[in-house]
Amino acid sequence: MASFNPNSFLYKNSTNVFDIAESRMNPSFVPPSSAIDFLTLCNRLKTTKRAGWVKKDVKNPESISDHMYRMGLMALISSDFPGLNRDKCVKMAIVHDIAEAIVGDITPCDGISKEEKNRREKEALDHMCNVLGGGSRAEEIHDLWMEYEENSSLEAKLVKDFDKIEMILQALEYEKDQGKDLEEFFVSTAGKFQTDMGKAWASEIVSRRNKH
Ligand code: ZN
Repeated sequence: MASFNPNSFLYKNSTNVFDIAESRMNPSFVPPSSAIDFLTLCNRLKTTKRAGWVKKDVKNPESISDHMYRMGLMALISSDFPGLNRDKCVKMAIVHDIAEAIVGDITPCDGISKEEKNRREKEALDHMCNVLGGGSRAEEIHDLWMEYEENSSLEAKLVKDFDKIEMILQALEYEKDQGKDLEEFFVSTAGKFQTDMGKAWASEIVSRRNKH
């Protein structure tokens, strides 16, 4: 039986997408140096701790990437719903806080207006899309981010719910593991869920908290 040879699959088949010479003609092609520059910038998402937990003196608080990763899983396990593009939700979840790689996690306590926060984040997003080379992949990231910010689709509404759900689930976990009182995170999100799925998942978390 012929065995699978990853090297021949990746490099020797000239019709393969990994053929660099052909890929340059492809609008989705990201030059390797741009890809690695972009990913290096994204490392800050892994090293920047979420500000809400830092302010509450949580020990070993999660990073921005940690938060986006679990939101990606939320989208992955969510039910099919008429008119909902679940794959788009997964992508939106892993992109929605990407500008924080440059501007950091700005919270309402920082004394920066919502408009100024938005302006800084939009500028950072544009910079990251330029670093990526501005092709169709950069365009996709830009459009997903804008759609989320503008809350302009069913996917954006669901991912915005996931954003809050991920936060209160994490709050409950820190309350249990570190004996913290993180009531304010539950208060600030109560009644703000936009989808039935979001409401149902949030109420499951709240009822577990009440039982605890
Ligand atoms: Zn978020």
